Formats: sequence, structure tokens, C-alpha cells
Amino acid sequence: MRRPILAGNWKMNLLRREVERLLDELRAAVAGVADREVLVCPPFPYLAQAAAILEASPIQVGAQDCCWELRGAFTGEVSPAMLKDVGCTRVILGHSERRQLLGETDERIHAKLRCAVKAGLNPILCVGETLEERQADRTWDVIRRQLERGLLGLEAAETAGLVIAYEPVWAIGTGQTATPAQAQHVHRRIRSWLEKRFGPGVSASTRILYGGSVNAGNVDVLMAEPDVDGGLVGGASLRAADFARIVRFEA
Ligand code: PEP
Repeated sequence: MRRPILAGNWKMNLLRREVERLLDELRAAVAGVADREVLVCPPFPYLAQAAAILEASPIQVGAQDCCWELRGAFTGEVSPAMLKDVGCTRVILGHSERRQLLGETDERIHAKLRCAVKAGLNPILCVGETLEERQADRTWDVIRRQLERGLLGLEAAETAGLVIAYEPVWAIGTGQTATPAQAQHVHRRIRSWLEKRFGPGVSASTRILYGGSVNAGNVDVLMAEPDVDGGLVGGASLRAADFARIVRFEA
């Protein structure tokens, strides 16, 4: 059984008081939810604050990125060891906004993933094709490359906390969600790839999240797909009522 994960990627949004309010509302709105994991990923400056507010809550705190080294002369970077130290359990890596806007390569993402694992932080590796790649029938080629390079050299024993997020770039922040069938098709292929690469145990236990305009109105049909194990949610995770409904999906 794979426990669903509902993760909110806040991106570069909210200020301190808004963080406090959203987390207070969210904590109340998801109280009693025990059969699924809930994660919020605020911007770096608010991670420690979020961890403190959520200390007695089952809601986990994650980061949106991390450095590829544990310490040293990397001005402006944040070590996964620091993230762990302030209370994070997970880190999003390879988000398409970082790939596209900041030029992150598969090789850099791989280095970050290795470093996160070394620090004891569970990575959420994002993969996904652009609209152009989908239209050129290259969806699987792109995702396979991102998986192969992102997880290069990883041993099955190191995948215990690994989560994959399938996020078609054309669906992120656009309101144009992938259909449940489109999501399921790619998730199934990712799971088969995991089986070939790591074996049936890892394939059966690894959570694969869908991300791309998930909202309170479409979460149920997406979560009804057998290989969709949760959601990585951007915009809708900034509104407590919407995110709580997503967390309380009915499939
Ligand atoms: C995301 O940023 O990971 C995302 C899926 O955003 P949105 O839900 O707003 O499309």
C-alpha cells in the first residue's frame, strides 16, 4: 500500500504573517487526517517558522530546492543538512521552473539529489515534458532521460524515501490539467521504468505524484487512477480551504 502524499509548493509567495495564518488555518482544516501524508514547502526564510508552527501537527515541512554540496563556499546556496536541521523532511528537486528559468541540468539535479539523500532528506524528483515535446511525441523520451540522469547510480537501498512527481510543464500554473488518463499513462510508464531499474519492490512502493493545476474540483478523478499516489500542488496550496479539500480527496 502506498500512502498518498499531498504536497503544497508555495513557490515564491507569502510573507511571514500570511505564512502564520495559512498554517494555522491548514492545521485546523486537516486535523484528524491520518491515512495520507501532508507536506507544505514554503520559501527558505519561513521553513524554521513553519516547522515550529507545525511541531505538534502531522503536517510535514519540505523545501523547494537545495544545494548539491553539504557545506562550503557556495554563496547564496542552502545545504540539505541545514534544511534537515530546521525540521524539513523532504525537498523538491528539478522543478520545471528551476530547469527552465535557472538552467538546472539533469546533472546538477542529480548532484542535488545525491546530496539530499546523504543528508537524510527525502527527495521529490520532478519530471515532465513541455507542450512542444508532447506534440512532437517525445513525452516518454524526455521523462526517461530525466529519470535516468536524475537517479544515476542510485542504489535500490537509497530509494526508501524517494518520491517522483510527474509535472507536465504545459499544465503547471495554466489551469490546463492533464486528464486522468494522460496522467495515469505516464505514471504507469514511470512505475515500469522503476521496476526495470530498481526491481518490483521499489516500483510497488515508490509514490508517484501528479502536479499541474490540481485543484479541489479535479483531485478526486486524478486520485482515482491506480498509479497516481498524490499531488504536488502549486496555486491551490496557497488557500487553506482548497488545499484541505485536496488533502481530503475522495477516490
Ligand atoms: C507546481 O508548481 O508544482 C504546480 C503544479 O503548480 P500549479 O498547481 O499551480 O499548476
